[in-house]
Amino acid sequence: MRGVKVDVLVIGGGAAGMGAAAAAAREGAKTILIERNERLGGVLEQCIHPGFGLHRYREELTGPEFAARLRGELESSGAELLTEATLLDLDPAGPRVRAASPKGLLQIRPKAVVWACGARERPFGALRIPGTRPAGIYTAGLCQRLVNIHGLLPGKRAVILGSGDIGLIMARRLRLEGVEVAAVLELKPFPGGLLRNVVQCLEDFEIPLLLRHTVAEVHGKRRLSGVTVVEVDEGGKPLPRTDRFIPCDTLVLSVGLIPEVRALESFAPLDPVNRGPKVNAWLQTEVPWLFSAGNSVAVFDLVDTVAALGARAGVAAARYAQGELPPARAVPLVRGENVLHLVPSALVPGEEATVFLRVPRPFPRVKVSLGGLISRNHLGARPAEMIEVKVPPGASKELSRMPEVRVEVTPA
Ligand SMILES: Cc1cc2nc3c(=O)[nH]c(=O)nc-3n(C[C@H](O)[C@H](O)[C@H](O)COP(=O)(O)OP(=O)(O)OC[C@H]3O[C@@H](n4cnc5c(N)ncnc54)[C@H](O)[C@@H]3O)c2cc1C
Repeated sequence: MRGVKVDVLVIGGGAAGMGAAAAAAREGAKTILIERNERLGGVLEQCIHPGFGLHRYREELTGPEFAARLRGELESSGAELLTEATLLDLDPAGPRVRAASPKGLLQIRPKAVVWACGARERPFGALRIPGTRPAGIYTAGLCQRLVNIHGLLPGKRAVILGSGDIGLIMARRLRLEGVEVAAVLELKPFPGGLLRNVVQCLEDFEIPLLLRHTVAEVHGKRRLSGVTVVEVDEGGKPLPRTDRFIPCDTLVLSVGLIPEVRALESFAPLDPVNRGPKVNAWLQTEVPWLFSAGNSVAVFDLVDTVAALGARAGVAAARYAQGELPPARAVPLVRGENVLHLVPSALVPGEEATVFLRVPRPFPRVKVSLGGLISRNHLGARPAEMIEVKVPPGASKELSRMPEVRVEVTPA
């Protein structure tokens, strides 16, 4: 077994992990990144559509192009990069990490860890849809991987359940490859994904979007033969006599991502709505040596944000490892009206921060307020798009007098 001592260990080599490792190494910390796949890039590698990097590079890049830029920045940083290295366990006593790699078993003793393992897809089993269990049911990310990386088509006629961005993008992708897309179904009365994706992926290709609809039953013996679709009321309950059969051989599920935190959940407090670890403005969890960024904290809409927060976590982890990050008095952010996802969970007095939040339903215009600290109007608030509120260092100094900050969104 190879034993290594490092300042910072980054686990996960997607946008967040690459941003973190490059930043930590540039701070002068001895840094190792482990990634289970052969290549760094994470989910970006399978996102061959454009729409990445508009903020960071002021260019519209594909996912692999964005990943290549980050890899370039990482390779020149001096961080050690270990691919095909999978985390086996993370022992908080120490901390001590064991990973399996082509070079054998690694035992790593880091001073700080950045957890950047992304998110996993909500599976079919979690939906408890009645019917048979035939072949032909895929999660959207898996379907994207089959088509874009392996060059395989899942079937000939598809129904997509869920109108999140991955579902919308896969509707267009399948149509471009010659698969008939019968419909995209959405339980809520509004689409789950970005408006630009509704227009560019569905409307431009005349793919029907059925709001307030879901799959009530799947049919088929060995292979899916169709789904029963129903309309639902506001509470998501099927409305009587609205059921109809849609023949299809493929059902694609785009019903949500869940932060990957299995190795942490026994010792790092999680946020019940984000489902990732609670982090402060430095992306430091409530376990001082553990930092986290990207989709493993909460599911973010833009990769530019993920890479930037990764870098912030990397800098903070390096400073912690070098004994330069003072213990922080964290001032909790508390959810008020109309706030779902909220990152970070706490602010640090005197430190600038950006607060990211999601609303539960669309509003034409809202006022976002951070407990009297900051308040501003925002046009067109939608659940798919995170609202960003900057907290400059000046305003952040006020925090030292506050026990907590209540975050509220009110229609304006
Ligand atoms: C279909 C789709 C379309 C998107 N479209 C856009 C868009 O148009 N514009 C935009 O800005 N953003 C878009 N995004 C969002 C953006 O791509 C993601 O938010 C971002 O790439 C997530 O990065 P991450 O590093 O947090 O996670 P990931 O990319 O998931 O990286 C996590 C990494 O951790 C590794 N890992 C996990 N467990 C282990 C382990 N045990 N040991 C070692 N390694 C491990 C994984 O292999 C993976 O490489 C899209 C996302 C999807 C899924």
